[in-house]
Amino acid sequence: MNRNKSESLYKEALQYLPGGVDSPVRAFRSVGGFPIFMEKGKGSRVTDADGNEYIDYCMSWGPLILGHADDDVIAAVNETALSGTSFGTPHRYEVELAKLVTGAYDSIEKIRFVNSGTEATMSAIRLARGFTGRDRFVKFDGCYHGHADHLLVAAGSGLATFGTPDSAGVTEGNAKDTLVVPYNDIDALKSLLEKEGETVAAIIMEPVPCNYGLILPGENYLKEVRALCDKYGILLVFDEVITGFRLAAGGAQELFGVKPDLTTLGKVIGGGLPVGAYGGRADIMDKIAPDGPVYQAGTLSGNPLAMAAGIATVKKLLEGDIYAQLEKKVALMKEMLGKTFTAYEGRLLFASIGSIFAFCFSDLPAISSVDDIRKGDMEKYAAFHREMLSRGVYLAPSGYEVAFFSAQHSEADIIKTATAVSDSLKVVLG
Ligand code: PMP
Repeated sequence: MNRNKSESLYKEALQYLPGGVDSPVRAFRSVGGFPIFMEKGKGSRVTDADGNEYIDYCMSWGPLILGHADDDVIAAVNETALSGTSFGTPHRYEVELAKLVTGAYDSIEKIRFVNSGTEATMSAIRLARGFTGRDRFVKFDGCYHGHADHLLVAAGSGLATFGTPDSAGVTEGNAKDTLVVPYNDIDALKSLLEKEGETVAAIIMEPVPCNYGLILPGENYLKEVRALCDKYGILLVFDEVITGFRLAAGGAQELFGVKPDLTTLGKVIGGGLPVGAYGGRADIMDKIAPDGPVYQAGTLSGNPLAMAAGIATVKKLLEGDIYAQLEKKVALMKEMLGKTFTAYEGRLLFASIGSIFAFCFSDLPAISSVDDIRKGDMEKYAAFHREMLSRGVYLAPSGYEVAFFSAQHSEADIIKTATAVSDSLKVVLG
């Protein structure tokens, strides 16, 4: 596969953009080689600058549940753009998308649109602090909530640790109110809250962690977290930037039957344009300016083009039976790879939920914690990624990332992908 144009674009990019990219994982550092510059996408396929076509499972890191360049999304964006791209005034599309989202989420009575998932989580924490009058919050080791200073804290595993910064430039002051516990370990959370519960404003979590491989919540875990929040008067914030409108229209909270106080959204609700949102109980949301004392604003927030793409996407998701179809696609892939997975038992794990899946090169029987993922072999993932790429399948360029099906992945795509997986594994695992 000739990728000369990508390579020369990357060389040029390195002169002007740090690392040649605008977001670090894109640089392919953890899988080796150079990033591929994409030119076009349609349905399940992307085409790079050299004209090579790939079946895409990165899907822009999750937003494109309808596939690339969905006809209705593109038509909505084009039509909206003809009337102007931004007004800095309210626009009826904000109300329309707000109605659609609040209709799909029992827990969301009011919503505020922002421009990214990072803004959404950062603002939700500020709101939780403003509402409760408490400073601290709890996050889980390995959960990613964007790059706001106080959220760039993962700390070590084991029992509750006070946060230490995860990035240069994040001060200890920024991190001191961030408490970190391991995910799926209810006892660790209990013992932290026994000591600190009355000082904690919020517990923020990806209900299904998707940023450190794929980790599924243990039975009743989310309900137990909810109960602890109620016990200590702590707000529960579900970060559904990935899982919202992805696992079900009503997100992980619908799937697991747990109602958070606040929810953060992004990705799918922007249909591939830059969007984030946070929403929840009206009495909490009413603390945001201009009604309340918690300040938060944005020049392009609720941008009409982004709202139009979001409305077109969400309407389709609410009308069709897309979620059932997506699950069938994952089931078909699992079925096709059944023999292959059996052959590599004890060396490879395949995890999935809804339309999200992940490969983990591990000898463990299952993954239930970040520590389990840490024991995985990322060198093997890197080799697997290269093999898949050479067979025309584009996976996210890091073993810590998940893969996404879209409504446009066809049976033919799945057959081709399953063959590529088997052939690639033969090279990587023998
Ligand atoms: N929360 C979660 C769960 C995410 O996966 C991400 C990004 N992948 C974010 C927040 C941050 O979103 P953004 O990249 O739009 O700032």
